Amino acid sequence: MAAVDQISEPWSNSIIRAAFLGIRQFEAFQQKLGIPRQTLSLRLAYLVKIGLLRKQAYQSQPLRHEYRLTQDGKNLHDNVLASWSWDRRWGDPGKNIPRRLVHSVCLHEFKPLLVCEHCAESLTLRNVSAQLTCQPLPNTTRAIRNNRWRVANADDKGQTQRDILAVIDDRWSVLLIAAVALGFHRYDQFLEILNISSAVLAQRLKRMGELKLMKKKPDPKDARRSFYSLTKIGQDLFPYLLTITAWGRSRQPGPDTLHWQHKSCQNLVSGRMVCSHCLQAVLPHEVFSPARA
Ligand SMILES: [Zn+2]
Ligand SMILES: [Zn+2]
Repeated sequence: MAAVDQISEPWSNSIIRAAFLGIRQFEAFQQKLGIPRQTLSLRLAYLVKIGLLRKQAYQSQPLRHEYRLTQDGKNLHDNVLASWSWDRRWGDPGKNIPRRLVHSVCLHEFKPLLVCEHCAESLTLRNVSAQLTCQPLPNTTRAIRNNRWRVANADDKGQTQRDILAVIDDRWSVLLIAAVALGFHRYDQFLEILNISSAVLAQRLKRMGELKLMKKKPDPKDARRSFYSLTKIGQDLFPYLLTITAWGRSRQPGPDTLHWQHKSCQNLVSGRMVCSHCLQAVLPHEVFSPARA
């Protein structure tokens, strides 16, 4: 889950998305994303440091560099496809995301679909079960994480702005959604299985309510307590969750692990994104976004 903290910083995430659309040079990133130059330069250096981009000279006089995705960076492709799909469906319109994606193998416009890599059936929250292990983080780390938690932005109509990065702030958002998927629905259960502090949990639940990812109603067994469940919007985060957990596991074992098992074939799954038209896996160099007419 540490993986989530590494890529949930908004600018870093936008840079990775742009890199998948073929952007490589500093000026091009700057133009596409409109990031202040200083920030862009820091974020690029950070992404090189954590091994998602590598810097490569493309010209010697004068010396100029471009930034390319490393293998670890390319492995985020399924996750980037998942985040595009979610943003297109549920995010604020007008965000800087591609409206249409074309699969260069079949030359059709497509939607990325999440399937089981073992049996090719489509994967949803309903047909997987999750296994979760959480260990407490050292207090210092926890303090830093809480600090960087952002408040939800509201626009001038008081509507909460929503995109996947507002939703997946850090590991807690992922773990909390996973906990509900596992069949836990009550505050005290979350506290117990997530090893989360009460203050952080209350904050997150409130925010997930504002973003309409979770709903709460009185617990049928005890009306003084609340019963939390995922809305359709929250359930639709599943492809994002699955692909980010799979990616995180491939990088480094963290203090918590989350495994998903496909109920019908019984295999542990990482998921694979395929083209809705030809049903083939979609690889990083096979996607483009046609220029808006
Ligand atoms: Zn399967
Ligand atoms: Zn295709």
